[in-house]
Amino acid sequence: MREMTLSILKPDAVRRNITGAINSYFEKAGLSIVAQKRIKLPYEQAEAFYAVHKERPFFQSLCKSISSGPVVVQVLSGDGVIALNRKIMGATDPANADHGTIRKDFALSIEENSVHGSDSPENAAKEIQFFFSEIEIIP
Ligand code: ATP
Ligand code: MG
Repeated sequence: MREMTLSILKPDAVRRNITGAINSYFEKAGLSIVAQKRIKLPYEQAEAFYAVHKERPFFQSLCKSISSGPVVVQVLSGDGVIALNRKIMGATDPANADHGTIRKDFALSIEENSVHGSDSPENAAKEIQFFFSEIEIIP
């Protein structure tokens, strides 16, 4: 089933100028980038985006990290793209990520792990709406 998911290339990836290298992983897997923009998240917006994690011990540090520099937010489209993107990204902690995944190849740490991807259809819909209006998404 054709789906859409929200992807973020995090500040650690933008800082190292590897957004194109990461995008090639999506494109090689047959996913399409149907919306994409470079933005800088204010800290308050990072808190809103990561609200589900607000009770976790790393919440403040995570919000600081994602708002520390520009990010590239994007909408990916493809068959089963939500689960497929998580597979391409690899495990949250790069130490546990499979070979050939983005996080294995690029992540610096469990926190600066280069990419974010929505984890369910409900969250994908919410997260896409958080960053994009309908006219910015060109399937
Ligand atoms: P994401 O939601 O970013 O796609 P994920 O679903 O693999 O990643 P979550 O458990 O949702 O991981 O955590 C969200 C983000 O919080 C992670 O991507 C990572 O940057 C950070 N994070 C997760 N666990 C830790 C931890 N133990 N210490 C520091 N940061 C963490
Ligand atoms: Mg998550």
